[in-house]
Amino acid sequence: MLDTSDPRSTATRLARDIAEDDAFRTALADLIAFPTDASAPDAPLHAYLAHVAQGFGAMGFETQGFTADGHPFLLASRIEDPARPTVLGYAHGDTAPGMEGRWAEGRTPWTLAEDAATGRWYGRGIADNKGQMLVNMTAMQAVIAARGSLGFNAHVLVEMGEEIGSPGLRKLCARLKDRLAADLLVASDGPRVAADRPTIFLGARGGATFRLRLKRRNGGRHSGNFGGALRNPALELAHALASLTSPKGALQVPGWVPEGVPDAARAALAGLTPAGGEVDADWGAEGLTPAERIHAWNSAEILAFSAGDTAHPVNAIPDAAEAVVQLRYVPGIDDSDLGAALRAHLDAQGHGDIVIEGDGPRFRASATPVDHPAAQFAAASLARTSDEMPVVLPSLGGSLPNDIFTEVLGIPTIWVPHSYPGCAQHAPDEHLPRAIFADAAGLMAGLYWDIGAAAPAELLGD
Ligand SMILES: [Zn+2]
Repeated sequence: MLDTSDPRSTATRLARDIAEDDAFRTALADLIAFPTDASAPDAPLHAYLAHVAQGFGAMGFETQGFTADGHPFLLASRIEDPARPTVLGYAHGDTAPGMEGRWAEGRTPWTLAEDAATGRWYGRGIADNKGQMLVNMTAMQAVIAARGSLGFNAHVLVEMGEEIGSPGLRKLCARLKDRLAADLLVASDGPRVAADRPTIFLGARGGATFRLRLKRRNGGRHSGNFGGALRNPALELAHALASLTSPKGALQVPGWVPEGVPDAARAALAGLTPAGGEVDADWGAEGLTPAERIHAWNSAEILAFSAGDTAHPVNAIPDAAEAVVQLRYVPGIDDSDLGAALRAHLDAQGHGDIVIEGDGPRFRASATPVDHPAAQFAAASLARTSDEMPVVLPSLGGSLPNDIFTEVLGIPTIWVPHSYPGCAQHAPDEHLPRAIFADAAGLMAGLYWDIGAAAPAELLGD
């Protein structure tokens, strides 16, 4: 029986109940059954969106399909009252490749499978991002059932190309800017810091990748007959790469290093063990905690590095060397010409002959400040449902098309992730603990409930 004396807990309990019902599992299995690997040429992207549109239609949303840069999108909208706040939701229906044949226990990517012993549900996209979208739909469904309405206006934008860089998303948002006018984004993707720790993140680090090449001559030269008197591009490039950080991994490239960690971000990250605890405490920027290094600082990594043939070395000085370097960065540095900053650094280190390819970020850093009223509102709402403060991350360590929402649409972004670090979302055996669905549905129902009850100033400040 519903307890009508406390409608908020009616909504959160109802959301949990729906998520624990067999019908939820069936609905999730139906989503996973679409092999929506965005990199596959024949992926049923339109069919998936048509299926999702039916689900939103049943919840009183109007749906419309769009195409941008040849990629399909769905917009589901439920406009209740222009005087109420408007929330934009976002989800992606595409997945990483299925990797058939590499899943354990005879599992296949496009069939929901349960491991009764561990309580895990398996399937490609269950964590990233189909299950997360279904959780949020479930929470909205519960609020509508408990209140008779959401209490706010909702748009949900579903794309089918996130895993291949969100082609068309920026263009579509620019084109639909007026139609998508919203007070904030509330969306779910990515991991919680741990399966049992409700988490909010407010943006994402940016990422820029550079290829460094140094070619000295055509063909190797005998290491005995020439060694010691000819430049070795592998050694030169190694020195150049080593100059990117201190011997302990602290970023050293001027223009790539942030000025500091904002106090609110430092306070939010206090006491947090990031990355499931898999960190080297003595690696990275000095004076920062591992959590600050991942969620509030910048890092450069060598992704790949080659010279000669390590599998079959010959007695020769290689003629060329090559490396791929990636910068991950938080908002606060000038990212208008990150390649120029690298160029200036290498020149200053005496490595002017190294050729740099790639000059702009593939993802731009963007984040809503930790002390934004919407961030504090969302954290308080989650705390009210779960009786503990959620972890608030200034930025996800990885990347999301967050800047499209903050910059093109100009709205604050609140991400409430429902996955966890071990979910294997881009590997075989993608899964979630089944218990996370009910937990997350309850949290989201509470958040939607509170947004539907809030005065706009509570949510957005004055
Ligand atoms: Zn995702």
